[in-house]
Amino acid sequence: MKIAVGGFQHETNTFAPMKADWAAFEQADSWPGFQSGPPLLTACRGMNIPLGGFVSEAQALGHSFEPLAWCHATPSGPVTQHAFEQVSNFILSRLVDVVGMVDAVYLDLHGAMVTEHLEDGEGALLQSVRDVIGPDLFLVASLDLHANVTTAMVDAADFLTAYRTYPHVDMAETGRRTARVLDRMVREELRPAKAFHKADFLIPLTGSCTLVDPAASLYVDLAALDGTSRDSGYILGASFATGFSPADIGECGPSVFSYAETPALAQTLVDHLLQDVESHEADFSAKIWTPDAAISHALSAGPSGQPIVMADTQDNPGAGGNGDTVGILKSLMAKKVSGAALGVLFDPGSAAAAHEAGEGTDVRLELGAHTGGAPDETPVAETFRVLRLSDGEVDATGPYYDGARLSLGPTALLEVGGVKIVVGSKKVQCADQAMFIHLGVEPAKQDILVVKSSVHFRADFGPIASDVLVVASPGPNPADHRTLTYKNLRPGVRLMPGTEETS
Ligand SMILES: [Zn+2]
Repeated sequence: MKIAVGGFQHETNTFAPMKADWAAFEQADSWPGFQSGPPLLTACRGMNIPLGGFVSEAQALGHSFEPLAWCHATPSGPVTQHAFEQVSNFILSRLVDVVGMVDAVYLDLHGAMVTEHLEDGEGALLQSVRDVIGPDLFLVASLDLHANVTTAMVDAADFLTAYRTYPHVDMAETGRRTARVLDRMVREELRPAKAFHKADFLIPLTGSCTLVDPAASLYVDLAALDGTSRDSGYILGASFATGFSPADIGECGPSVFSYAETPALAQTLVDHLLQDVESHEADFSAKIWTPDAAISHALSAGPSGQPIVMADTQDNPGAGGNGDTVGILKSLMAKKVSGAALGVLFDPGSAAAAHEAGEGTDVRLELGAHTGGAPDETPVAETFRVLRLSDGEVDATGPYYDGARLSLGPTALLEVGGVKIVVGSKKVQCADQAMFIHLGVEPAKQDILVVKSSVHFRADFGPIASDVLVVASPGPNPADHRTLTYKNLRPGVRLMPGTEETS
């Protein structure tokens, strides 16, 4: 069979200040930049990216491809209308050219894209693809675990499946699973029934970590359904997407969806999954620390030979933060902490100034807090020692960015007091030890390690941590959604698990 393949990934925090324009999709960062034509088929090979997994698995199953277009941008505020139309037009116009030659379409999507003009970017794209291919060709897509899945998405696609791990170490595997299901659908001419339901509460990012319960157990149960059958028919699979909460749209929040032989069986699976999710509602909240309380806790615990890792979750660039707030850094300095390291602080101006000054010099900087992620915050105006410089091209060594060449832009390791700070020129989630190690900082030897990440860091930093504290320092990804003003969320949705407050 011949499969048209493409993708368009963006996770949109509608409360974040910076929009994703065409340049954000065009440039490479920790993932490749915009791809089209044959290079698309090899760009993600060997990387933990759904498209890469899908292509390698489908190829092994004997299928060939028509490449459309693929791109992603770091999570941020809404995608500009221009960028959305640019990418959609690439995908759709190429699809129009090849539609008579293909048997199916696969798209690598996130599922939480909001644009300047659309609440549901993927729903619109999938519906447009369906309009081009008609009702008979198969349309399948893989989604992020944090997808805000919508009725429009479910209606347009024959099969959707979401990641099952957070940290997302199974992105390529989700692509491979999609390829196996599509292969079976085509070979056995299966057009599965589907069922879909949304839950009535929002889950904070830190509560959707699959290394701990309740998510850990829920995903084990879910995976056990793949490719099974019951008296009433076959089951292709089911998903639980925990949603991406900082998105002020009607269909924000968790969802369950399933694909099976009959509508009744699909509905039974969804009812069962939803009941499981709802029965654990209160457990989807993790303890949140203030910066001062977290640092005091770490200091009183004393050095253990392993770092206490602090997740600066509200400024997580993987959730729309800009990676440049300085609340925790200021607390570390105020408490005169030594033996601490922080990364990756996004400040291209300071990185450039450090490069100009050179290694071993002292440089006066206004560090961080330049992009308005925490409007009341001011930069750290201090003299910093420039310890090391790099071009920011770093080979990832941990399981999350597995196989990726990270591109941080000109990067500097600065020190103030006893705190070392990795300052980069591109927004990047700190989820790989190589971001520190390439500058000579050994993460395992720090007493306190602060990472601009919510959960992905756990894949690489979890094994070296004596403890992990989720810290709420000012930033655009609030750990408590009750601090956000939702205007478009459907009525009756509880803003935090196990609480009563709605928008
Ligand atoms: Zn995600």
